[in-house]
Formats: sequence, C-alpha cells, structure tokens
Amino acid sequence: MTAQIIDGRAMGAEIKAELRNDVSRYIQEQGRPPGLVIVRVGGDAASGVYSRTILRIAEEVGVRARLEQLPTFISSDELRVMLLQLNRDEAVQGIIVQMPLPAHLSQQMVADTIAANKDIDGISPQSAGNLFLSLPSLLPSTAAAVMEILERTHTPLEGKRVVILGRSNVVGKPLAMMLLQKNATVTVCHSRTMNLANFTLQADVLVTAVGRAKLITADMVRPGAVVIDVGINALPDGGIVGDVDLASVQQVASALTPTPGGVGPLTNIVLLKQCLQAAWWTVRGGNGYGNAS
Ligand code: NAP
Repeated sequence: MTAQIIDGRAMGAEIKAELRNDVSRYIQEQGRPPGLVIVRVGGDAASGVYSRTILRIAEEVGVRARLEQLPTFISSDELRVMLLQLNRDEAVQGIIVQMPLPAHLSQQMVADTIAANKDIDGISPQSAGNLFLSLPSLLPSTAAAVMEILERTHTPLEGKRVVILGRSNVVGKPLAMMLLQKNATVTVCHSRTMNLANFTLQADVLVTAVGRAKLITADMVRPGAVVIDVGINALPDGGIVGDVDLASVQQVASALTPTPGGVGPLTNIVLLKQCLQAAWWTVRGGNGYGNAS
C-alpha cells in the first residue's frame, strides 16, 4: 500500500477561500470586519514568523488584524492592563498572545486575563472547560486543524480507535475531547507510556504530537491507518521533519500528513476561522457568552 499524502497547503487554500466568503458576509451584515490583535512580547524569532503569517492570512481573508509589539521588559501588570483594554475594545473580536513569553511573564496570567469570548486560540480555563463539557467553545487551533483534516478527508471516526501521542494542553488533551465528541474511542499516550507500539498498532487513526523525529516507524503502524503528524523537528542541516518516518510509514498507512506541508499550514487559517466564529458569537450570543466584550 502507498499512502495518500494529505496536502495541507491545498486544503488550507480551500478553507481560506471559504473563509473569505464568510468574512464578506459578516462585513455585509455588521458593517465592519472582525478585528484581531496579535500581542508579541520581545523578539523571539519563531513568534515573529508566526505573527507575520497570521497578518498575511488575515489580510487575504478580510479580517482586520494588527500586531501589538511590546518590549521584552514590559511588566506583568502592564501586560495585564493592556489585555484588559483589548477585552473592552469593541473593534477587537480576537486576541492572541504569542508564545514563548519572556521568563518574568506568566502564560497562566495571560490565559486567565483574555476574555473567553475573544480567546481565539482556546487557551483560557473557560474555553478548556467548555470543551471538556462539550459546550460550544473556541478551540486550540492546532488541535482544531487536526479535526479539520480528519473531516475534510472524510476519515471515519465514530467507533474507531484513535491513538494520540502527546498530552499537552494545546494539542493532545483538547484533541482527545474533540474526538470523543465524534464518538471515537480515544487513547492518549505520553512519555511514560510503556510499549508505545502496543497502542499505536491498534490505531485506525494515529495522531502524533511529540516533537521527536522518526518516533513512528512502519512497524508501529496498523496497515491502512490514517496518520496525522503534528510534530515539528528541526534537523541539523536546517531541514524540518515531523515525528513520522515518512518513507517507511507511507508503505503501510492509507493516508498521512507530511511535514512540512501537512498540519502546519492549516493552524493559522483555523485561528482566523475562529476569529470569525468569535465575532459571530459576540454579536449573536451563540455560545452563551452573550454580547459581552
Ligand atoms: P509538548 O508540550 O512538548 O508535549 C509533547 C508531548 O509528547 C508530551 O505530552 C510528552 O509527554 C509527549 N512525549 C514525549 N516523549 C514521548 C514519547 N517518547 N512517546 C510518547 N509521548 C511522548 O509539545 P506540544 O506543544 O504539544 O507540541 C508537540 C509537537 O507538535 C512539537 O513538535 C511541536 O513543535 C509541534 N507543534 C506543531 C504545530 C503545528 O502547527 N504543526 C503546532 C503546535 C505544536 P509528557 O506529557 O509525559 O511529557
């Protein structure tokens, strides 16, 4: 068997085209575009790349986005006050704070401060709680991107065995909740899991979000499984690979996402999709947040 390689870039282009239309409808009805603010503290190079990518996609789909670049030495109180101002700003429907933050700033403070109805990367305890309770929720974008891939490839989930490697708050745990909502039977593995292959070999759908190159080899994959590779690993030669040994697993799986070009291109597009969702929920109160801003 040679697996179908799932083209995340082509899928991303498809979602962007849909999103552009959906944003136009919002603008027609509301008289202004959804507003997004990216808060970046300091000069982390990777977060600079992410910020520019989000700004470019926002422009392409019609979301009004701006970057608030803050100095590394901003105090926790100053950052908090700024987030509270953005919470009150009626022109802003989505807020994201780029990670990593400088060591003196707490990610938890950020997650606790961003208003739940503007938390478009699903980092707040309220968003996580809503997801846990199967209530409408803004979602961590990488986990939501995995769901988008599974839905758009018509991968059966109901009654299927899904194995997730990784239990982080941004990928593994929220993804497990989303898959349970789709009636999959979900197993979450992590660094203390014994005999990983015993679990991976059971998977109809295998999602790996670990960050270890070649963790998954062909002998760990059930023939015909769908394999979604979230991992990103930098090689000494400057190249990027996922967690999956693509060349060997391709001979066993029925479909798999490559790295780069799989999950990555969808993550920021899904973030913008959630910004529009947040904007609609704010005006229509569809998730119980009412018109709070
Ligand atoms: P993380 O917070 O470091 O979590 C990694 C998880 O992998 C942890 O739960 C860890 O277990 C588990 N793990 C470590 N070694 C393992 C092993 N040998 N077997 C099974 N599980 C193991 O990372 P993250 O933020 O979730 O990201 C995971 C990967 O996805 C990274 O490579 C990251 O760069 C990538 N990523 C990609 C995107 C994208 O857009 N494509 C977005 C976000 C992240 P413990 O909990 O026991 O430590």
